[in-house]
Amino acid sequence: MNWARWGAGAAISLLLIGCASALPSPVRRASWSPAVAPATPVAVTPVALTTPARLPRATRIALEGQAIQGGLMLGNVPTGTTRLTLNATPVRFASDGRFVLAFDRDATATATLVAERRDGSRVTQAIAVAPRAWRIERLNSLARISQPSAEFQRRRAPELAQINAARAKDTGAQGWRQQFLWPVTGRLSGLFGAQRIYRGEPGSYHSGVDVARPTGTPLMAPADGVVVLATPGEFTLEGRLLMIDHGMGLNSAFLHMDRIDVREGDTVRRGQRLGTVGSTGRATGPHMHWGMKWWDARIDPLLLAGPMPAAE
Ligand SMILES: [Zn+2]
Repeated sequence: MNWARWGAGAAISLLLIGCASALPSPVRRASWSPAVAPATPVAVTPVALTTPARLPRATRIALEGQAIQGGLMLGNVPTGTTRLTLNATPVRFASDGRFVLAFDRDATATATLVAERRDGSRVTQAIAVAPRAWRIERLNSLARISQPSAEFQRRRAPELAQINAARAKDTGAQGWRQQFLWPVTGRLSGLFGAQRIYRGEPGSYHSGVDVARPTGTPLMAPADGVVVLATPGEFTLEGRLLMIDHGMGLNSAFLHMDRIDVREGDTVRRGQRLGTVGSTGRATGPHMHWGMKWWDARIDPLLLAGPMPAAE
């Protein structure tokens, strides 16, 4: 969709930006590797973690995955950890010491993890976060300014309230520990982070990944979770919107769905059918838009699900 800037300070925070056909041509297969199974060549230089290798495992912060913008890492806290922070913000960890963290699309180049231990000691780990080369399209035209109508604003406020309430639900889901699956396979028609710049004025970046498939194509759960939002009707932008909490602040949103076959509160399993692809809401054609967040960080589902499997 042509994401014009919304005028008037965009008081409507576009939490979930649906977008079809932002990138008209087939996108080359992504060459970066999934966060939890780095194997293939990476588009950016992988970053060595700075933990000294000589420390015994239980006294350092163990991390797996790539420290990269839009990426996710899994880790284990050192033995006796009572508090873990990332850039001074507390990070939850499970009773077995396992945790997940992720880096926003615009994360700064360095991050600091600190584990405070029962004996009063602190383990500090600096992380160099690799930058990404986002797909930026520079246009020599002005953004199409569309002033949100009063009717739009009237409908939008309660929609955003529902989305925020869904994100605030703490379900205890354990999907965050898993390797994520592609909910739908097919042609990538929009990449996370892609952005248009209109005569120097940046538009909103694309907040998820799009996979073009016909209406009615089944959509599967990428990992275990709990349904925190399943809209009975259509939201103005997202259309039929399904949100799944994977636990520990990690969640998925599926936009523009044709049908939703699960209900709020349902526990879903990785690979379970959730509904079907559609083009409801603001979409120019049927596709799956999959957005992911870890708390406030917007992350790239492609880094979790890995390269798109070849077409059958
Ligand atoms: Zn999209």
